Amino acid sequence: MHAETPETLRPETVAVTAGRPPHDADQPLNVPVHLASTYVAGGALEYGRIANPSWTAFDDALGALEGGRSVSFASGMAAIAAVLELVPAGGTIVAPRHSYTGTIGQLEDLRSRGLVRLELVDIADAEAVEAAVEGAAMLWIESPTNPALELADLDRVSAAARAAGALVVVDNTFATPLRQLPLSHGADLVVHSATKYLAGHSDVLMGAVVAASEAHADAVLARRTLHGATPSPLDAFLALRGLRTLAVRLDRAESNARELVRRLDGHPALEEVRYPGFGAIVSLVVAGGAEAADAVVARTRLWVHATSLGGVESTLERRRRWAAEAPTIPDGLVRLSVGIEHVDDLAADLLAALGEEDPSGTR
Ligand SMILES: *Cc1c(COP(=O)(O)O)cnc(C)c1O
Repeated sequence: MHAETPETLRPETVAVTAGRPPHDADQPLNVPVHLASTYVAGGALEYGRIANPSWTAFDDALGALEGGRSVSFASGMAAIAAVLELVPAGGTIVAPRHSYTGTIGQLEDLRSRGLVRLELVDIADAEAVEAAVEGAAMLWIESPTNPALELADLDRVSAAARAAGALVVVDNTFATPLRQLPLSHGADLVVHSATKYLAGHSDVLMGAVVAASEAHADAVLARRTLHGATPSPLDAFLALRGLRTLAVRLDRAESNARELVRRLDGHPALEEVRYPGFGAIVSLVVAGGAEAADAVVARTRLWVHATSLGGVESTLERRRRWAAEAPTIPDGLVRLSVGIEHVDDLAADLLAALGEEDPSGTR
């Protein structure tokens, strides 16, 4: 029922055009919010836990952007759970030691119950990953990692994992399909927390899995239906509305991030400014550890102290305030999610918050 998207369109155009009703008289331009728990029998939808046209519109758009078939989920965590269930009992999962805390939580849960074996690696160390994937059932990749911002060599580690017979999964939440297309670098599956950049307005929880093959898409779809890990139709509508503006939001947030990195580099209150070279997440390691970092966070007025990321508004938090964050993440690491405000306002607020450690006394 949706308009075909020619293969030749650029991703910025696909984000706007995919997942629309056909250009026929009286069709709405957007697929509406379909509030339905059941449908008249005999068709393809049948029941509200199986299918919903508002999900399909979102999945058509995200699938077109990632180059695979998308299956949306209630949250990023629900999407991750469905993918991890593809690992056979007793199989080995290789994953970044600095994966998102929730991912580590699920992996440790499976391992502690004896369901899988787990090997945590430095995902930026391609040689270590190559050695670890021998005999593994799944290579889980996050790149950039959250919040350490390490990068994986996707081509190299995916090829090694495939040669070893392991499924390759990439959590593409930070990069989005506008900055990185894991399926074109050898991944079998892409996972998203659509809660972040795809939806982009800090008002939706949603996730998605995008599969290169029909078989893998069918397998995760079966898990979603079995577990009822379905998104709400309103959330799917809002996530797709957010996705329409992803390109302009990301361009602006990324240029803001680059400029902030330029202005913050070498600041005496900072031990380190981490930026992977693309995207809009910046991690600052504040000199003086947890206490100094908490003080900086408390002094910002424009930047909102909040977890999560990828919204239009700039947020920050010290990641080690969460007990589940890896102990190898510095105590004073503050993750910035750079939004789309004017960069001068963002810089002024942040520099003022850092200023009390500035020996030049310019504050
Ligand atoms: C937030 C996040 C998740 C989890 O997604 P939810 O939508 O919060 O369930 C997974 N991966 C990464 C990289 C994230 O940042």
